[in-house]
Amino acid sequence: MKYINKKLTIEKLSVETIAKKYGTPAYCYSFKQFKKNILDFKENFKSFSPLICFAIKSNANLNLIKEIKQFGLGADVVSMGELMMALKAGINPKKIVFSGVGKTSNEINYAINKNILLINAESENEIKEIEKIAKSKKKRVQIGMRLNPNTDAKTLSQISTGKKENKFGINERKFLELVKYCKKSKNIDLQCLSVHIGSQILDYRPYEKMLRVVDKVIKKTDYNFQYIDLGGGMGISYEKNNQSLNYKKYNLSIKKFLKKYNSKIIFEPGRSIIGNTASLISKVIYVKKNSKKDFIILDVAMNDLIRPALYGAVHKILPANKKNKKSNKSYEFVGPICESTDKFSSVKNFQELKEKDLVVLHDVGAYGMSLSSNYNLRLKPIEILVKNSKIKVIRKRQTYKDLLNS
Ligand SMILES: *Cc1c(COP(=O)(O)O)cnc(C)c1O
Repeated sequence: MKYINKKLTIEKLSVETIAKKYGTPAYCYSFKQFKKNILDFKENFKSFSPLICFAIKSNANLNLIKEIKQFGLGADVVSMGELMMALKAGINPKKIVFSGVGKTSNEINYAINKNILLINAESENEIKEIEKIAKSKKKRVQIGMRLNPNTDAKTLSQISTGKKENKFGINERKFLELVKYCKKSKNIDLQCLSVHIGSQILDYRPYEKMLRVVDKVIKKTDYNFQYIDLGGGMGISYEKNNQSLNYKKYNLSIKKFLKKYNSKIIFEPGRSIIGNTASLISKVIYVKKNSKKDFIILDVAMNDLIRPALYGAVHKILPANKKNKKSNKSYEFVGPICESTDKFSSVKNFQELKEKDLVVLHDVGAYGMSLSSNYNLRLKPIEILVKNSKIKVIRKRQTYKDLLNS
């Protein structure tokens, strides 16, 4: 996104033009950014060509998954719905891994029928359930076991998953015991050790530590894992500070690790592929004056983008049209929902806004639309993809008819 003649543009199309034609709020994705992210990700780890399984939960738009498939990526799914969506988009089942602590027998059954690459199990009882279902089908099923490496990802506590107090993964002692169990099983084919320590990770050192734990555990198992699934979690820079993960360092520690093991590496990135590809275009409904700061009441709310309310996340907000006049307004950007957490951010030194002005929230591609809801019976926004400077509607705006019939 950049300003051309003071107009904010996405691949040369102005936000104003898009909003006029498609209305607001609108999620708008840039194909160019998206392609760059995938190619950069591949380039960062090209020496060992990992299998990259896009984490569908970060963005489950069918058309986007179809685009992702074109780059040869697989999928990481966490529910039957996501598995069905990945298959519908044409992703090869042999590039699909299924994660999550609470897979139901119905979901396991479906995944086995579809012959996906791996069911990444997260507990003893889940492994036994998979075994039981596999046995009833007279099949041998490929699984992974998710290790809880007790590693602090040094990210927000709400999105940290690799510590022993988190519900995710299997602790070391149990893991070692279960490797032995799987070795003896006729219906379980243990192929993978998986880990995922959290999300929005910007420091490579937790990953280094995670790799050391994985190394130590594999040594103790004396087992040859075909795959090592290192999960996702690579962070992106949301605010001005431009912090980013040091991929070179992460790549080097994986290369070092691979000198000892000839396993195939799997990654499950979500945010790092899709996060910075989208903007959320919104219109000012009211400017509500207050003694200290003015409230800017937008037509976008926490039902459209819940990250600020859920994690205290901050998304950069910029005006669609820059004004010449300097002004230093203090604004609090909020949505219309009846919750005090329906608030995006407080900003100083913003240009003066009027009603009907357009603003854009940045970097909303991951955990934006996929976490949206109909709370307050608000309609879900439209999703648009800008590809080669052409607009494609990739999901229609929900209508009151859809809403009232559901
Ligand atoms: C959420 C999740 C991911 C994706 O995380 P990102 O931070 O979006 O890269 C990958 N693997 C698992 C198991 C997850 O739960």
